Amino acid sequence: MTGDPQPWIRGPLVIDAAVLQELHAHARDTYPSECCGFVSGPRVEPDHLTTAMREENEADKYHKLDPETFPRTSKTYFKINELRATRALAAGEENDTPIKVIYHSHCDAGAYFSKEDAATFASNNTLMWPCAFIVVSVMEGEVRDTKLWVHEPGTNGFRESTLTVR
Ligand SMILES: [Zn+2]
Repeated sequence: MTGDPQPWIRGPLVIDAAVLQELHAHARDTYPSECCGFVSGPRVEPDHLTTAMREENEADKYHKLDPETFPRTSKTYFKINELRATRALAAGEENDTPIKVIYHSHCDAGAYFSKEDAATFASNNTLMWPCAFIVVSVMEGEVRDTKLWVHEPGTNGFRESTLTVR
């Protein structure tokens, strides 16, 4: 192993067709709300994505409790439980099947990485979670597009990378 323990954060990545289908199914199921979750894979194949895990989008819960701080609902926003995320990442590391991707959907919008997405996942020019990011675009209930985004080191920005379906 070299000095780079999490090479998947740079992309490009390879996803099993069944896993991509599961992300698409999740995105359709939650439409017109955004879905979110994790994708993991074996550490020994750093670019390979083999397992999807659905997470609850807590945007509506926060919006209900505190609409001023959280003005947006799950239609345009997603929020993963941070404690669950921390635990899932730690468990993945222990099992040698690290979480490599955090995914979410956009409803009636493209599969771009939004300003809000960038602000959620990078701060002070540092990537917050050691992951790459998949965004699924759902238009009128149908999956339209899927894109992989990776952090640009030393910035708060992200660029598109290649996601190959196998
Ligand atoms: Zn987004």
